[in-house]
Amino acid sequence: MIARVTETMEFSNTELREWCRELPKVELHTHLNGSIRDSTLLELVKNHGDNGIIVSKDVEHMILEKGTSLRKCFDLFAVYHVLTTDHETVKRITKEVVEDFAADNCIYLELRTTPKNNEAKGMTKRSYMQAVIDGLKAVDIVDVDLWGCGLNNEESGDTRRKKIFVRLLLSINRSEATSSAIDTVNLAMEMKDVGVVGIDLSGDPTVGQWETVLPALKLARELGLSVTLHCGEVRNSKEIQAMLDFNPERLGHVCLLADEEWDRLKSLVIPVEICLTSNIMTQTIPSIELHHFADLYKSEHPMSLCTDDTGLFSTTLSNEYYKAALSFGLGKEEMFKLAQEAVNFVFADESVKQHLTQKFEEAKGQML
Ligand SMILES: [Zn+2]
Repeated sequence: MIARVTETMEFSNTELREWCRELPKVELHTHLNGSIRDSTLLELVKNHGDNGIIVSKDVEHMILEKGTSLRKCFDLFAVYHVLTTDHETVKRITKEVVEDFAADNCIYLELRTTPKNNEAKGMTKRSYMQAVIDGLKAVDIVDVDLWGCGLNNEESGDTRRKKIFVRLLLSINRSEATSSAIDTVNLAMEMKDVGVVGIDLSGDPTVGQWETVLPALKLARELGLSVTLHCGEVRNSKEIQAMLDFNPERLGHVCLLADEEWDRLKSLVIPVEICLTSNIMTQTIPSIELHHFADLYKSEHPMSLCTDDTGLFSTTLSNEYYKAALSFGLGKEEMFKLAQEAVNFVFADESVKQHLTQKFEEAKGQML
């Protein structure tokens, strides 16, 4: 176990918070819909009008009670989905999410989202993703590098402006049919030259069968797309083993693994996306002291701190680092190393990795 907080804490909590904010960071696990701002959510509810499905007073209450139970997390998540079904809203929340991460000194964001068909709104999976791209183009407080390869947004040329690399993962929902999951993989392939770098498997962990989505994941691999899977959110040994057999490029959460599955994960050295606040708020892990971060960290297993859903869990990437420092007694150098090592697990190409590595090298002198 890492040294306790009181022994290693090098600064006050306020200073530590600020240091975590200043730290350049790489975000590998965040869902677009779950990262909506509370203020935007309330505005959308107002525009939607009280129609019996969503009542603004109820949503205000839900926001106040965020994170007090797993049920309340899912209730609010359902509201997000009802309110984010048109192109303009998808564009708006994409823009805002990128701006929020950039303001938090995130220098690389891998944003994941499930492309949706919505006939009533004239939305196809393709047009949904176009709205996401439009949102990225609309970001105006920072320079966004979406495409790399010289096709990125018009840069301001102002060297004082922040720059954030954004890449996209298309999520397959666990409840989707095989054909729909394959459509998503084909769409990801079609959009490979506009910033899509991989496929994620997510959704309610209690529904869906691994065998249903496996053909799509195999196709993704054949096509050269990287894959990350939400794994071990519930105890499901058969599925966890199948996921480890698949040996994806990364795994998210890995909360509820049996001893032999831990050993296997470690021997396969699959990088893990750790979401501390999410795991505690959804009560997947009973307390932060019992979180598997400590064990993985001690084993020097590759991992990266992530937010999962900044809106749903009222967190930021800085806050996740702050929480890790406080809970596991990490010092400045350990925190910096943790943030820097995440560069190794990004799905973007080598040129982006080199750029990010350089950013960390530049920051090192100021941060340590
Ligand atoms: Zn997630």
